Amino acid sequence: MEEKLFQKVFNSSLYRKNYIIMHEIDEILHTLFYNKNGYVKNYNSLEFYCPYCKTDSTFIPNDIPIKNTVKSVIEEYYEYLHDVKTTNSGFNEKKPNPFEFMKKLSNEEEVFIRTFSCARTNGKEDRHTLIYCLKIIEDSIVIIGRYPSIADTSLDFKKYKKIDKSLPSEFNLATGLHSHGVGAGAYVYLRRILEKYIIYPKLNEEQKKLQFFKEKLQAIKDQLPKLLVETPEMYSVLSLGIHELSEEECKKYYKPLESAILFILNEELSNIEQKERMSQVQNEIKKIHSDHKNKK
Ligand SMILES: [Zn+2]
Repeated sequence: MEEKLFQKVFNSSLYRKNYIIMHEIDEILHTLFYNKNGYVKNYNSLEFYCPYCKTDSTFIPNDIPIKNTVKSVIEEYYEYLHDVKTTNSGFNEKKPNPFEFMKKLSNEEEVFIRTFSCARTNGKEDRHTLIYCLKIIEDSIVIIGRYPSIADTSLDFKKYKKIDKSLPSEFNLATGLHSHGVGAGAYVYLRRILEKYIIYPKLNEEQKKLQFFKEKLQAIKDQLPKLLVETPEMYSVLSLGIHELSEEECKKYYKPLESAILFILNEELSNIEQKERMSQVQNEIKKIHSDHKNKK
């Protein structure tokens, strides 16, 4: 299924053309506008890292005033919906087409601004705000400006220091490249993260010599995060990105790959923490035991 236009646009990198495919006019409206007392009042929020709170947060939409000429394009569409409801006639002939609708909007407005505020401040702190500039280009919606940058608001990677202290900065490089519209380059870092920090540290000298990557994964499968063992295709997709996919395809598949890698890192992290807790508990028990023995 085609993902919701709102999520697709606001999670895409700068300058990427997010084409309208099967999307309805409603989705276009709720991506470009938010006006809680007007027609366009769907409350879509975003999840990002707030660089001011220094933690992950939800960003809620702010009201944006809509120019009168733009308003009349929107009203025309709602009048149509109203007509359909009340008269139940002329339905198909008059049905507005999403492509024409976008064209009409772009004739009336050069740039669309959307802002979102960090929910942690209850709207009290103006600066905890994400600002987007959107533009309609051909049949697509493109982010032509964003502040703060995607790299500054990407979810918190610092916790992965426990796996390796260089890991967060390499993940930031991947998201930084992606946010600047780089496709294949970002994949190099994603693949490095998997190889350098998750897989290679677990291989012994013999296993490192195995010819195929799948064999390497099999040899250490008990020590690896489950998702990686059960979805070896992931590694192939990353390699495809480096060798075969187009820049556009790389950008399109970046987000699902990033989510999968974050899932793997979280699993690895919880394994490490589980081991830490286990050895802590073991030490406590051993201490009680030896203290007791010494008393005797
Ligand atoms: Zn904040």
